[in-house]
Amino acid sequence: MGMLAVKEAEAIILDLVQPLDRERDTEVVDLLAGADRILAAAVTSQLDFPHWDNSAMDGYAVRYADVQSCSAEQPAVLEIVEEIPAGYQPQRSIEPGQAARILTGAMMPSGADTVVMQEVTRIEGDRVFIHSAPESQAFVRHQGSFYKAGTSLLPPGILLGATEIAVLASAQCTQLSVYRRPRVAILSTGDELVTPEGPLQPGKLVDSNQYALAVLVAHSGGIPQMRGIVPDEPEALKSAIAQAVASADIVISSGGVSVGDYDYVDEILASLGAEIHIRAIAIKPGKPLTFATFTPNTTQHSVLYFGLPGNPVSSLVTFWRFVQPALRKLSGLSQSWGPKFVQARTYHDLRSDGKRETYLWGKLHLVDGIYEFHLAGGSHSSGNLINLAQTNGLAVLPQGIKAIAPGEIVQVLQVI
Ligand code: AMP
Ligand code: MG
Repeated sequence: MGMLAVKEAEAIILDLVQPLDRERDTEVVDLLAGADRILAAAVTSQLDFPHWDNSAMDGYAVRYADVQSCSAEQPAVLEIVEEIPAGYQPQRSIEPGQAARILTGAMMPSGADTVVMQEVTRIEGDRVFIHSAPESQAFVRHQGSFYKAGTSLLPPGILLGATEIAVLASAQCTQLSVYRRPRVAILSTGDELVTPEGPLQPGKLVDSNQYALAVLVAHSGGIPQMRGIVPDEPEALKSAIAQAVASADIVISSGGVSVGDYDYVDEILASLGAEIHIRAIAIKPGKPLTFATFTPNTTQHSVLYFGLPGNPVSSLVTFWRFVQPALRKLSGLSQSWGPKFVQARTYHDLRSDGKRETYLWGKLHLVDGIYEFHLAGGSHSSGNLINLAQTNGLAVLPQGIKAIAPGEIVQVLQVI
């Protein structure tokens, strides 16, 4: 198993992702709790939209035949038999020579087929004079013209936002079937690591990956399970990984996957029965990345294991590039779970040694509607977490490309 190209590794990973099950992996939530969740079942309504013919204007509901040849010189004169505000059911049918005063959104009375807007009318007593012929069926929103009862209202696999919640509310769907959120166990490996609260003795380093990865998992729709710091001891690591695999859909570890003497992760995965698919990817930062699957002995789906490199930038770049799309695909999204690349004009000179696909972090700005990429200032070492703050894009230099000059176009992975 050599070093895989980024595209090859991506394909291997995404092909092995089994989305959550549409029956088993769902829960029913109230309408508002459905926001930011993924719909698990198609929604069909028994209502037409609009529910009945209604007026799009304040004006008069008329019979087209009565007004089709009127004009300013020869206005049509109709008897007003009723006023219909929004929210009320008409009580009268419109006969020839009659009209109803109607307000926006109000139900059309039977017999009427057209609305004349009030601007071309004049009132005398209980009669309305119409000075201009409308088009047939003008300003009538017809029942079922937006949506026909019994057809598909919303498909499964979509993320529910404000507009979808509004559609579901108007269809009176107050209980929604959504996918459960995937559980993602996160553990950090390394004897050098301490918690942000712990004493920072010489040689020690704060475990920042645990926090960054937890935030990214939550942003991506998962439930992060922070499983803490595991020392570089095979037995401790083995039991931590075994427990994580038993409780999660995805396990992410950081650290311990390179070829250093204290790097046990691959060995342990093999001893726990995992199938290792990837050991290294031609990406910078992030080369030593382990991807494995645990095939379950029950009806559960398999557990994905990502062993990310420990360097803070490497672990985040590989999360964005490989883990996030896998997590989003697993979560039940039917589309748009993939990484989002945009084209940008680079503001700075971008450089790489050309050996591996290189990701340079920085900021995307919209300048006159066109993306511009600004490289983060400071060191682009994979150990430098500090200048990663405020990153919203990773510029990609493909393998073999050593430089992209200012003003040239570069592909940028949008990240959150
Ligand atoms: P490793 O992949 O274990 O060889 O770690 C590579 C580098 O990343 C080392 O300098 C570690 O100290 C650092 N590192 C490993 N894990 C973490 C972590 N959880 N948070 C911050 N830095 C880490
Ligand atoms: Mg380590």
